[in-house]
Amino acid sequence: AGGYPLLRDPRYNKGLSFNEKERDGHFLRGLLPPVVISQDLQVKKLMNNIRQYQVPLQRYMAMMDLQERNERLFYKLLIDYVEELLPVVYTPTVGEACQKYGSIFRQPQGLFISLKEKGRILEVLKNWPEKKIQVIVVTDGERILGLGDLGCQGMGIPVGKLSLYTALGGIRPSECLPVTIDVGTNNEQLLNDEFYIGLRRKRATGKEYAELMDEFMSAVKQIYGEKVIIQFEDFANHNAFDLLAKYGSTHLVFNDDIQGTASVVLAGLMAALKLVGGTLADHSFLFLGAGEAGTGIADLIALQISKENGVPLEEARRKIWLVDSKGLIVRSRIDSLQHFKRPWAHEHKPVNNLLDAVKVIKPTVLIGSSGAGRTFTKEVVQAMASYNEKPVILALSNPTSQSECTAEEAYMWSEGRAIFASGSPFAPVEFNEKLYASGQSNNAYIFPGFGLGLLISGAIRVHDDLLLAASEALAAQVSQENLEKGLLYPPFANIRKISAQIAAKVAAKAYELGLATRLPQPQNLVECAESSMYSPRYHNYR
Ligand code: NAP
Ligand code: MN
Repeated sequence: AGGYPLLRDPRYNKGLSFNEKERDGHFLRGLLPPVVISQDLQVKKLMNNIRQYQVPLQRYMAMMDLQERNERLFYKLLIDYVEELLPVVYTPTVGEACQKYGSIFRQPQGLFISLKEKGRILEVLKNWPEKKIQVIVVTDGERILGLGDLGCQGMGIPVGKLSLYTALGGIRPSECLPVTIDVGTNNEQLLNDEFYIGLRRKRATGKEYAELMDEFMSAVKQIYGEKVIIQFEDFANHNAFDLLAKYGSTHLVFNDDIQGTASVVLAGLMAALKLVGGTLADHSFLFLGAGEAGTGIADLIALQISKENGVPLEEARRKIWLVDSKGLIVRSRIDSLQHFKRPWAHEHKPVNNLLDAVKVIKPTVLIGSSGAGRTFTKEVVQAMASYNEKPVILALSNPTSQSECTAEEAYMWSEGRAIFASGSPFAPVEFNEKLYASGQSNNAYIFPGFGLGLLISGAIRVHDDLLLAASEALAAQVSQENLEKGLLYPPFANIRKISAQIAAKVAAKAYELGLATRLPQPQNLVECAESSMYSPRYHNYR
């Protein structure tokens, strides 16, 4: 092939790193300036460039440009500078990118499947250039982060999540497929936006929606087989739980908002116990937000309590309370509750707001999963701090604008006693001449390693016990030093090692449960996970 197409192919392009031999052998002479530089120098140059952009969205666009120009260099940057670049390609910046996706859109980075493609989804999948796909992240854009319905512009999320599958979990980029299902949007602002990239209609629901999803799910299995991971991401809860239940017995499906979030939060709580003492069963939990994240986490905590103590789920659930937009979830509301809230409708008089709920429940752990920013008010945090020596407070909602409180607020209002983590990152806070670092409680810790574990074992179904295994593996990676700083999670800097540990534990559990199809079982699963990881280092072309 000629040299010019090589320079334009992001998968093979090395830019100024093409060496003399490659320049001769691949018709690149004259197409590049004379200098030959190392990948490390390219990394240095790109980081210099990116750091010059003060506006986060410009950094995002610079990273997307790089991904479209030189894929290996993109991943080298993302892996080497993961703590600095995660907030650029992921939350919070990806949220803004989705909101403005129509205006900044340059190159399609995933597959768009809209109602226009109904009846032809198999053909559409065949248009994608890669034939071997291991992981699909799919959204319908209805609940993007805590930003609501962004329709077709939700594409930024599957693209970002899959970049993390590669950078953090080592899945080959060619084996990742981002998909956005476009059934319309109910977002008036987008419908009136001349740059909107999606179908200009209200969302399809009911049979029309179900049929498109069903066609997609069947086509995926037909073309990529049984062992492709299908990760549902940022669907609204009125579809998310049903899709997971419907396809849970026929496909390798995983809902990151329900299951991945649950696993990462449980891991954080296991670590927190080392700071606050007791077992999970000794604690009481109050959630603001009873949707996918809230009830998903609550379910997994209850499962773990029930296993640890040999008590029925029913009993384990009694330590867990949830508040939704109408107040505390209690028995008298049961008839009007969505099915996923019903297990949490305990006997109690009605309580209308979070502050009153904190006062009557007196929880030791407060978890924000509402998508509603600044809802952990000063009064709420102070109440938590009045009942607890070390109140555990997790503000999970993304992006930063939707966080239930900031790190600074959590530490200030609790006089530095809160054990705090958040969904989107906060810089360390100085309070009373002391520096408080806080961890990021984000499913990005779990899904890359979890997915890798499914792949190396050839798992055919996801099981709750695999989620518990992932939580334990992640919690085990939190060092004494991390805990002393108040961190419930290890730094992202070591994430590839952490992902390999998670993958190994998940795979081991899959073998134990008879869900694994890759036989015989590899002797050393950690080694197996590590050695199967994608490396962003350039290859030499002959
Ligand atoms: P969801 O299914 O729509 O649930 C949101 C819940 O919050 C609902 O129960 C809703 O009440 C409740 N709520 C909304 N505003 C409220 C308010 N002002 N006061 C009290 N309750 C309120 O959404 P989700 O999938 O659970 O996601 C929620 C948030 O979690 C999002 O911001 C998302 O970014 C974040 N999240 C974070 C992670 C992470 O890894 N850190 C992972 C997943 C999700 P009703 O039921 O009454 O409407
Ligand atoms: Mn999500």
